[in-house]
Amino acid sequence: RINSAESKDSGTAVSTSSSCPAQYRIVIIGAPGVGKTSLANQFMTSEYVAFENETDEKDDNPGVRSITVLLDSEESTLGFIEMSLETKDLDGQQYDAFGIVFSINDQASFRSAVEILDCLRHDIGTDRPIILIGNKVDLVRKRKVTKEDGRAAAIKYESKYTETSAALNHHVDELLVGMLTQIRLKLTPRVP
Ligand code: GDP
Repeated sequence: RINSAESKDSGTAVSTSSSCPAQYRIVIIGAPGVGKTSLANQFMTSEYVAFENETDEKDDNPGVRSITVLLDSEESTLGFIEMSLETKDLDGQQYDAFGIVFSINDQASFRSAVEILDCLRHDIGTDRPIILIGNKVDLVRKRKVTKEDGRAAAIKYESKYTETSAALNHHVDELLVGMLTQIRLKLTPRVP
């Protein structure tokens, strides 16, 4: 377990020379059926993706899917790890950023997401980005969680809030860019 003081400035990111993109590990977590796989699938096809990487056989987490993203003329490699709510042993310290997903038509999934937010912030402190993601906004007439509730929860836990539709690929690129922007702001050492 990496202690948070050690990882404060650079997270667990591997900083490399400019010819080799920095690598970050992002957990996508939430209740079953909220759209985690659908969102990850859409990330793979984003216009910001320079290329999709082969799964690294040596990786200790074989579920990781990795893309290299080109943003602001700089490449970064993002490895996505999907986790279900049942994952009891999420060790937040191992990862650089977190996307906590719920479905806007499912109050229980929102409560679960807030519980995860609460646990994670206690575990990792505030130095790494968490984005709370209200998915399935296409189901407008079935909405059970308001945008205000989503925003308020995110603010309470010093996180960002965004709403997406993985089904319509709505705001998914913005989510990807937002995650990477947060990661670069929080984890990349600033130039003096
Ligand atoms: P996971 O269990 O969280 O990985 O959820 P999946 O990605 O497998 O999605 C569960 C179900 O929700 C599938 O039938 C998806 O097609 C559907 N789904 C995912 N995202 C959306 C969305 O944005 N809108 C709608 N209407 N359905 C979605």
